[in-house]
Amino acid sequence: MQHVTFDWVLLIFLRNTALLFLVAGSLHLYLHVRKAQGNRFKFLNREMATKNKVFKFNDQVYDNMFWSIASGVTVWTGYEVLYLYSLANEWISVAPFTEHPLQFFAWILCFPLIRGIHFYFIHRLLHHPFLYKHVHITHHRNVNTGPWSGISMHPIENLIYQSSPLIHFIIPTDPVIVIIHLILVTLNPAFTHSGFEKIMNKETKILDSADFHHQLHHKYFDCNYGNMDMPLDVWLGTDHDGTDEATQRLRMKKRKSVT
Ligand SMILES: [Zn+2]
Ligand SMILES: [Zn+2]
Repeated sequence: MQHVTFDWVLLIFLRNTALLFLVAGSLHLYLHVRKAQGNRFKFLNREMATKNKVFKFNDQVYDNMFWSIASGVTVWTGYEVLYLYSLANEWISVAPFTEHPLQFFAWILCFPLIRGIHFYFIHRLLHHPFLYKHVHITHHRNVNTGPWSGISMHPIENLIYQSSPLIHFIIPTDPVIVIIHLILVTLNPAFTHSGFEKIMNKETKILDSADFHHQLHHKYFDCNYGNMDMPLDVWLGTDHDGTDEATQRLRMKKRKSVT
């Protein structure tokens, strides 16, 4: 039987922390410290909170970094180690790229579908009053979000949110797919929470970064549980498109559920 050594786990934890710093840290420096594009395409015209008791260390960015690393990277490392440990002990099967190249690319194409469905339903679960009050609130304290807000979540939320790669414990895949899946789950939120709709280099758009759909979720809470890769919000009636009509609709719905 293969065993896990502390050095091995520490190495993966440090590698994952470095990756998060590379993505969330660079985005934060570019957009919020250097302010390379000013307020262009910024969702909310205000700074990340400082001297605010809602956040650890009274500072939103330090608070978000703390939860992202202590909770987000720890859970990420935990799932990765669990997968590699299970693999080393032959508790799970693999479908190597060399033998199943088509399946490898099919997984890549299916990522938006798997993540879109998984995120919508676990997110609705997280809005159950008990889970919201004790768990999901850690993430929702961020109304004005930044790159470090992405996986700034309570450990239980990170355990639930990062669980979509568990599918590879059941369906054999190439281990590279599992690593990519975990990286997408943990690093993509740095872009979707960046606080900016587009990232620019002078007048040229580098990429569409943030997710207006999810930004509205941080603003209104009871809508837009999923993402637009998989428009479950539209199909299941929880969509908010940013218009006043949608806000009215949401208010009416809330009133009905209270009365
Ligand atoms: Zn969020
Ligand atoms: Zn939420």
